[in-house]
Amino acid sequence: MVSPSHPIFEGFPEFRPGTVWLVGAGPGAPGLLTLLALHGLQQADVVVHDALVSDAVLGFANPSAEHIHAGKRGGKPSAVQADITRTLIALAQSGKRVLRLKGGDPFVFGRGAEEALGLAAHNIDFRIVPGISAGIGGLAYAGIPVTHRDFNQSVTFLTGHDLSGDLPLAIDWAGLAKAAPVIVMYMAVKHLPDIAARLLAAGRAPDEAVAVVMEATLPTQRVISGTLGDVAALMPQIAPPALIVLGPASSLRPVLDWYDTAARENRYG
Ligand code: SAH
Repeated sequence: MVSPSHPIFEGFPEFRPGTVWLVGAGPGAPGLLTLLALHGLQQADVVVHDALVSDAVLGFANPSAEHIHAGKRGGKPSAVQADITRTLIALAQSGKRVLRLKGGDPFVFGRGAEEALGLAAHNIDFRIVPGISAGIGGLAYAGIPVTHRDFNQSVTFLTGHDLSGDLPLAIDWAGLAKAAPVIVMYMAVKHLPDIAARLLAAGRAPDEAVAVVMEATLPTQRVISGTLGDVAALMPQIAPPALIVLGPASSLRPVLDWYDTAARENRYG
């Protein structure tokens, strides 16, 4: 393993005691961590991580680091979130180097902003270390480019549930259906039939392609495809964590699907 004093880290920022790094762990494969994330993991006194962060990624942490599991799955009550933010504040105030490790990117449906706001309110210095978001890098592992200039000039990231676990009320389904050629949905397994019904009612075509990518970038990655009009047929085969992609992006998958045939046995990516 590369040590924190390895020349590759020369000039990297120091992880000062009493500060928090909010770090994106990427979609799952440890090889998709950034160098800054690795640098932080090697120095942290305590790692506070989510359910979606794999053991292999946690294995990069300093062996003497304390690990705190702060996982939340499926939109549990926000009180849990307040607890996590309080924990980060207390650990930083006790003088620790605190690394908050989140799946994907901390600012993409990861509540990283809420935690950062909590830290700012308590005058705790923090750093954001972006990660590869599952909705971009995870899909690349399924041969699904989120943009292709022949198909889409924009891409929309949608969350399938709000704080209470319900379908977000604020979504303008008619506007979305009209304006978003490719929709990448996070946390959308539970409400997928409802989401599909709303998009169909708003004018999307029943024969539009839907791809579901589960456990993206991991050796256990699975991909299934179907159509918007028939998501019911897909439901029994879907298990979280999953990304759901609507639109032409997944039509390139038969040609671009490199991961299924490549180094799947390599658990680092
Ligand atoms: N901050 C994260 C997203 C957190 S929300 C990011 O930027 O990727 C959690 C959701 O992300 C899951 O419900 C799922 O929709 C998606 N997700 C994260 N990792 C995934 C993976 N390896 N495979 C499929 N979906 C994943």
